[in-house]
Formats: sequence, structure tokens, C-alpha cells
Amino acid sequence: MVFPFKSIKDFNVELTDEMELFRKTVREFVDNELMPKVVEVEKTGVIPEELIQKGVELGFTGVGIPEEYDGQGGGTLMTAILMEELSRGMPAYGTAILVNGLFTYPVLKYGTEEQKRKYIPPIAKGEVFAAHANTEPAAGSDVAGIQATAEKKGDKWVINGRKIFITGASKAKFLLVSARTSQPPEKRKRWWGITTFIVETDWPGVKIGSKFDVIGLSGEHPDEVILDNVEVPEENVVGPVNEGFKILLDTYDHSRVGIAAQAVGIAQGAFEKAFNYALQRTAFNRQIIAFQAVSFKLADMITEIQAARLLTYWAATLADQDREEAIFAASMAKTFATEVAEKVANLAIKIHGGVGVDRETGVEHYLRDAIITTIYEGTNDIQRLTTIRQLLKRALGIDVLTM
Ligand SMILES: Cc1cc2nc3c(=O)[nH]c(=O)nc-3n(C[C@H](O)[C@H](O)[C@H](O)COP(=O)(O)OP(=O)(O)OC[C@H]3O[C@@H](n4cnc5c(N)ncnc54)[C@H](O)[C@@H]3O)c2cc1C
Repeated sequence: MVFPFKSIKDFNVELTDEMELFRKTVREFVDNELMPKVVEVEKTGVIPEELIQKGVELGFTGVGIPEEYDGQGGGTLMTAILMEELSRGMPAYGTAILVNGLFTYPVLKYGTEEQKRKYIPPIAKGEVFAAHANTEPAAGSDVAGIQATAEKKGDKWVINGRKIFITGASKAKFLLVSARTSQPPEKRKRWWGITTFIVETDWPGVKIGSKFDVIGLSGEHPDEVILDNVEVPEENVVGPVNEGFKILLDTYDHSRVGIAAQAVGIAQGAFEKAFNYALQRTAFNRQIIAFQAVSFKLADMITEIQAARLLTYWAATLADQDREEAIFAASMAKTFATEVAEKVANLAIKIHGGVGVDRETGVEHYLRDAIITTIYEGTNDIQRLTTIRQLLKRALGIDVLTM
């Protein structure tokens, strides 16, 4: 029974030799370059610039971007593999490199050819970074509730508003910004009237405010962005005016596969540390892995990680096939994988005993990082809403949003 899918072939996941070669290259970089720096980055809250540059040299910023825009090619699955491997070592590094996708995906899909030629190649080559500014003090999950405004004055749009929790804003050159351009025609169509814009951070009126001192992803703490009478040329509107809500939701439907992959990497990293520790540590004259209380934990951890990985690769595959079911799969993958990461990271700390809560061990950060994955790019409550809506749509043809 494959309900609500049509065929068992909908569950195909094909991994190529190229992907495996790429995964090994990333893992080598993570083991040799990132892992030794984790504790330092946790302490300083800064990822050294030379580490970012090494990732740029390896082409990480171009993954998922077509070659015609100077990218490395590869789709959602390749990008998920990159995110998973980076996050296994240093989850914040995965975010720092791949947050660009929240800008490049909507511009590549909805932008004009001029926008793509101007803005995508420098990001793909790692010359500049980009960020995505949607969340506001009064609107996170409720994307339609944003209060930033963009008013048309002559041939320019003037944006005013305050965005919060914007990952990578302090180092970004380009922002994808959402703002309300019209009031919705009726209460039930409140999503209508939002538009997305490309804004450059060195334009007058753009101010990067304070950093949020969040508990996890140390080294990639999000920023506040203030937009004070920022003039944006008409040619920087992305997609149709007033239809930006759909662009934003499509962007998150796609990018949350990356968060699922990040969670798989977090869980894998925490598991490997716990497994190695359980083999090395002795208590009562035995390796602690000999105690069933420890080995059963490890057995459950690795089982759930594999399930999360399969769900994530499957969602990525459907996204690469441009299948409508990708939204459904991505929500399930994000919910499941991030909650597995939370659970596995927590158990990994417990298997370490006292040293598990010592920052020097470099294991406890996985739990703090995992918690963030359950919140950003749509909380897991919102994912569950999407999952049930997709189920109703596919099974009964009911579109809850229009009910
Ligand atoms: C580290 C970090 C980085 C981030 N990076 C970015 C970024 O780069 N760009 C950006 O634009 N945003 C970013 N965000 C914002 C993030 O996407 C939002 O925090 C998230 O979508 C939740 O919104 P909120 O914080 O306003 O919570 P709220 O929407 O206020 O939710 C609060 C609680 O209510 C629940 N809830 C809300 N509505 C419903 C509902 N309809 N049904 C059931 N439960 C509901 C939520 O699940 C949650 O538990 C980032 C956040 C963090 C923490």
C-alpha cells in the first residue's frame, strides 16, 4: 500500500558515483579542517574566514547552481549531501555556506535573466554571500503577517521595515527581502499583496543591527536588518508584484530538504562521537558498549538516523524531479530528521556521562544545534500542518487553504 502515493517507484532514490566521490571529498575536508576547529568556534562564536575560503575553493558555494551561472551544477540531492557532511562536523558551517540558497533558489526560479546574470555568478564563485530577510518581530510562521512595506514612487520602490533572525546578513552583499506592496482584498486572501525584492546591503537605508545570541549554530548567529526608506529599482522586483507569498513558500518547501539534511548530519556526528566513546570508555572493568543500556541506545540511534537519511534523500529526489509530492516529502523529512537529531544528540551526551556536558568534548553543541533545526525554515508544528494539508489534498482533493 503506497497511499497517498501512486506507485512504489515513487520511493526510488538513486545515488551516483559522482555523488559518492563528492561526499568523500567533503568528508575529508570536514575531518581534516573543520573538526579540529569546532571547540574554538564554539568559544569564539566566529568561523575563521580562511575556513570559509577553503570551502569556496572546493566549490561548495556553487553546488546546486547551474554551470551557466558559474555554479558547479548538481541539484537538491547533491546539495543535501553537502549539507549533511558539513553538518556532521560543524553544523554552523553548513548554514554559513548554504544559506545562499535562500537567495539563489527564488532568483533562479522567478528572477529575470538580467537578475540571474548579475547576482548569481558572484555568489556561485564565493566572491560574495547572500541572505534571506523575511522574518519580522510580529511574523515568523505567519508569513502573510509581515509588516514591512514597499511603496512605489516613480520608477523605484521604497522599503521600510525591520527583519529579525536573518542568517548571514552581516556578511551578505545581497538580500532577498519581502515587503507588503498592497493590502489584501479580503481576510481570507491575506497572503496576497506581498512582493519580493533584491536589495544590496550597501545601499542607503540598509542597516545591519544587533546579532541574536542564540543557543546553537555558534559562528553563524543571525542578525537584525533595518530597512529605512531603502530605494529599490523596479528591475530588482523578483517575480510578479503582490505574488511574493507563493515565492517565499516555494523557497521554504525547497530549502527545508537542506534542513532535514543538516539534521541527519548533526545526528550522524553525535552518533559517531558516542559510538567511539562507548568503545573507549571502561566502567566496572568493561567497555561501556558492553552494557545493554548503552548498546541499545546506540542501536536505536543508528536505526533512526538511517530512516531520517532515507526520508531526506527521497524528498531531495522528488524535488530534483520537480514533483509536486516533494512538498509533502520535505515536510515529513524535516520534521522526522530534526526530531531524530534532537533525540540522538541528547542520547550522545548521556552516553558520554559527565564529559558529555563539558564543552571541551565537542558533543553537547549538537543538541543546541539540533533544537534550531526544529525551528528555522518553518517550525515542526508548521511542517505537521503542511503534511496534513498535503495528505488531504492528495487523498481527497481538498485544498485547506481555500476552504
Ligand atoms: C537561528 C535562526 C536563524 C534564522 N534564519 C532566518 C533567515 O535567514 N531568514 C528569515 O527570514 N528567518 C530566519 N529565521 C526565523 C525562523 O524562520 C522563524 O523563527 C520561524 O519560522 C518561527 O517563527 P517565529 O520565531 O516567529 O515563531 P512563531 O511563528 O511566533 O511561533 C511560535 C510558536 O507557535 C507555533 N505556531 C505558530 N503558528 C502556528 C500554527 N498555525 N499552528 C501550530 N503552531 C503554530 C510555532 O510552531 C511555535 O512553536 C531564523 C530563526 C533562527 C532561530
